[in-house]
Amino acid sequence: ASFAHFGFDDKLLKAIIKAEYASPTPIQAQAVPCGLMGRDVLGIAQTGSGKTAAFLWPLLKHVSAQNPVEEGEGPAALILAPTRELAIQIYTEAKKFAKIYDLKVVCAYGGGSKWEQSLALKEGADIVVATPGRIIDHIKGGATDLQRVTFLVLDEADRMFELGFEPQVRSVCNHVRPDRQTLLFSATFRKRIERLAKDALCDPVRISQ
Ligand code: AMP
Repeated sequence: ASFAHFGFDDKLLKAIIKAEYASPTPIQAQAVPCGLMGRDVLGIAQTGSGKTAAFLWPLLKHVSAQNPVEEGEGPAALILAPTRELAIQIYTEAKKFAKIYDLKVVCAYGGGSKWEQSLALKEGADIVVATPGRIIDHIKGGATDLQRVTFLVLDEADRMFELGFEPQVRSVCNHVRPDRQTLLFSATFRKRIERLAKDALCDPVRISQ
């Protein structure tokens, strides 16, 4: 497989070359076409599989087709991740590709400055990467809302559940419009994840490495 098969625009292909990615990883080869078609995806994938780009590239195509965010509006895409470390990693990867479309990315995680994060959220972000507890704090505090979210990613869902974030993850899912596109990634696939997939995804394509 090659990146040319995805039908990406030249700007994104250039950025991928600049990132020195030679060819898509197996998870990217499977998930990207489904994501680009607008399908929900249930991906069983480990860290290091290239799963971040597998959800980011379809996300960017989706978000770049929306109206740019205005001050005071919530994001068009939300990515939930279990930990500060992972949120920052995703944020770094997202910025690399989002800048080519002039999209703004904000990262909000537990342990970081609530005040700084809420200022950035209020200025307006097209894409938000967040840990579940912290995004709910920001929504309750009025720094952002989920009204405009039409693309939702749940990354490392099993870790989010292990860390006790199941209620927060479910609450976010229940507050995002039901006709959204949802991509769920998990390293393992057990009963709890199966139930979440059943509740939060719509006829998903199942993918594993
Ligand atoms: P991830 O599994 O998303 O955490 O990605 C693991 C690492 O692989 C990250 O450093 C990515 O920047 C890198 N990566 C993602 N996609 C590719 C690719 N197609 N070729 C080479 N490296 C990649």
